[in-house]
Amino acid sequence: MPVASPPKPRLFLSPPHIGAAELAFVEEAFRTNWIAPVGPHLDLFEREFCARFGFRHAAAVASGTAALHLAIRLLGIRPGEEIACSTLTFAASANPIVYERARPVFIDSDEATWNLDPSLLEDWLARRARTGRLPRALIAVDLYGQCADLERIAAICHRHGVVLLEDAAEALGATCAGKPAGAFGRMAIFSFNGNKIITTSGGGMLVAEEDDLISRARFLATQARDPAPHYQHSQLGFNYRLSNVLAGIGRGQLQSLEMRVKNRRRIFERYVAELHDLPGLTFMPEAAYGRSTRWLTCLTIDPAKAGVSREDVRLTLENENIEARPVWKPLHLQPVFAGCEAVGGSVAERLFHQGLCLPSGSAMTDDDLQRVVETVRGVFLRQ
Ligand SMILES: *Cc1c(COP(=O)(O)O)cnc(C)c1O
Repeated sequence: MPVASPPKPRLFLSPPHIGAAELAFVEEAFRTNWIAPVGPHLDLFEREFCARFGFRHAAAVASGTAALHLAIRLLGIRPGEEIACSTLTFAASANPIVYERARPVFIDSDEATWNLDPSLLEDWLARRARTGRLPRALIAVDLYGQCADLERIAAICHRHGVVLLEDAAEALGATCAGKPAGAFGRMAIFSFNGNKIITTSGGGMLVAEEDDLISRARFLATQARDPAPHYQHSQLGFNYRLSNVLAGIGRGQLQSLEMRVKNRRRIFERYVAELHDLPGLTFMPEAAYGRSTRWLTCLTIDPAKAGVSREDVRLTLENENIEARPVWKPLHLQPVFAGCEAVGGSVAERLFHQGLCLPSGSAMTDDDLQRVVETVRGVFLRQ
């Protein structure tokens, strides 16, 4: 009987990557007994985050989803009003629309960037303007580390009086037209979930130019307590604040952001060098208007040209204990959003059917990468 080889260690898509600075900040929180939710790290994390990117105001919260929920709540949306959103994204980009009883409308992607298609948005808003049915807001998502064409999208929204919110959860460290991701909307959000480019295990940030928005967000995020010695509430609050301990992790992570971007971009370049010659395999393009962080290395496999499908490749990787994931399933195809309007959708659908995200963690070794490359090449060779 053949001797079974020991199982290969699991290679994850984008695992947390923790350094020494984080531990020092967390130890400081313990030593000074700032375990209670609010404390000095929280304030410093917000300030350092703003200073790093040139943002005016920021509120650190429990998740990117919480940040987006607060942003939508701050707009004072009435039930039944519409908020448009990129369709090719994670469900958390649109869930808070429904929390506020507004209605999502999903907009298709642009082939050239995989992000929200500005021309499609422009045509749709022009049609809606003619019938007096403009949406209140647009959530433009920065996908897989690459900003949407935000300068153009912001101008289109401005022309129609549509509020722009930027979901930059996947794009911390990216740039667009010389500005950082998060600099475009009336408000923008980031995520520090475990799989994102920096993590606090779980966490998020809401940023804005307007002081008033961020102070109201902090108020709503801490149970909306009115200034009174007893517990007094005139508005519905949430328990959405990031804890001081986790903000300490965030401060450490932020220090190494540039190294993380460089590593992820280098991993992308290595994948390109090793796999670009395979037929029918195409990498996610980088737009000319900015720098992608290449948070995840994403590609499509056209089965007609490749002779293999995305699923053939993904399942072979899984057999080798390598985690790879299909590109986001468009939200207009998600059962939870059945019945919502979609503007186009065929581009996002093709990207979903053919798209694959490869392991891209910033601590990934050359040997890890070689394991992925050999497995992918093996699937094509067997044809
Ligand atoms: C991760 C993510 C979110 C949600 O962030 P959480 O911190 O996990 O709540 C929102 N939008 C996009 C595009 C994301 O990738």
